Amino acid sequence: MNKLFSTTFLTILVAYFSMSCQSETTAAAQKNKADSIKVRKIKDTITITAVGDMMLGSAYPSKLNLPPDDAVHSFNAVASFLKGDIVFGNLEGCFLNSGNSDKCKGINPNNCYAFRMPDRYAEIYKKAGFNVLSIANNHVGDFNAKGRKNTARILDSLQIHYAGQLNKPFEIFVIDSVKYAFCAFAPNENTVSIKNIDSAKMLVTALKKQADIVIVSFHGGGEGANFEHVTRKTEIFFKENRGNVYEFAHGVIDAGADVVLGHGPHVTRAVEVYKNKFIAYSLGNFCTYGMFSLKGSNGFAPLLQLKINSTGDFLYADIISVKQDKVNRLTLDENNTAFYKIKGLTNLDFAGHNLLFNDNSRITLKD
Ligand SMILES: [Zn+2]
Repeated sequence: MNKLFSTTFLTILVAYFSMSCQSETTAAAQKNKADSIKVRKIKDTITITAVGDMMLGSAYPSKLNLPPDDAVHSFNAVASFLKGDIVFGNLEGCFLNSGNSDKCKGINPNNCYAFRMPDRYAEIYKKAGFNVLSIANNHVGDFNAKGRKNTARILDSLQIHYAGQLNKPFEIFVIDSVKYAFCAFAPNENTVSIKNIDSAKMLVTALKKQADIVIVSFHGGGEGANFEHVTRKTEIFFKENRGNVYEFAHGVIDAGADVVLGHGPHVTRAVEVYKNKFIAYSLGNFCTYGMFSLKGSNGFAPLLQLKINSTGDFLYADIISVKQDKVNRLTLDENNTAFYKIKGLTNLDFAGHNLLFNDNSRITLKD
């Protein structure tokens, strides 16, 4: 067992057992709770709206990397679509008002990708409707513990649920009488590792005992247009192991996950329904300002509206095709490019799949 694996594993177990001990004190109580979950009626249809990477503007290396409207209109074009029981995205940066990044030591900061959004930007996500964010990625730690702690503090204050750092592998919360568990994984320092699939499965198994619906997020795979396929192999990007997203997604579903939401490649990837559970292999970029490339496929921004039933099984999904460019920022795409891109990639990477793609947005199961 290597050091990273054992550290992650122990952290997860300690966190799980401390959570478990707080909420239930005896095995009998847990059994009663499991029985009550079985008989408790929860809503028939749950809506999970999800997008990929979001970074609304960084005041580092200079304020020139903040949008002219101070980001307040970032989500205007999609406001009517950001609705649901869960509205999820990946927070690709930290909230922090000042400071330099160690990541950029010895490099010209203008060529260094280190993102800190002003604290006030957190409110923009809240107002747009986001209630669950992944903080397992390669940018939330750009300003070390200072940035991570401040981000956690602000998200707590806004009552936005989040997970994915080693000190917070998951969160359990109730929305409209449904108990959700959310956990997030990545290959990066201080995040819960996507590479240790056995420990990810153990966490998901434990969470499934506590919650009605388990949502798993991952930030993994190579980046850019050359990495739009699900290879079913471990992906190496700039000599870094970015995980085997296929094995990971299937593994966590085998362990009890109900939905798997992937992001990280900055481009969209295929979707899959495996054992009746929905997997998005990459939701690409969604709302990113400044140093992000938005060329070609990097500019397609799918907005997923997923419907699942009370046991977490897939009912149907819509892909609202949104696009980004440097001038107009986020706009609706009347050519529905993101939807057709996902359809094409799914046909290529999962030939013989069980899905139908119709009406410029709808994904359903074949009869
Ligand atoms: Zn990233």
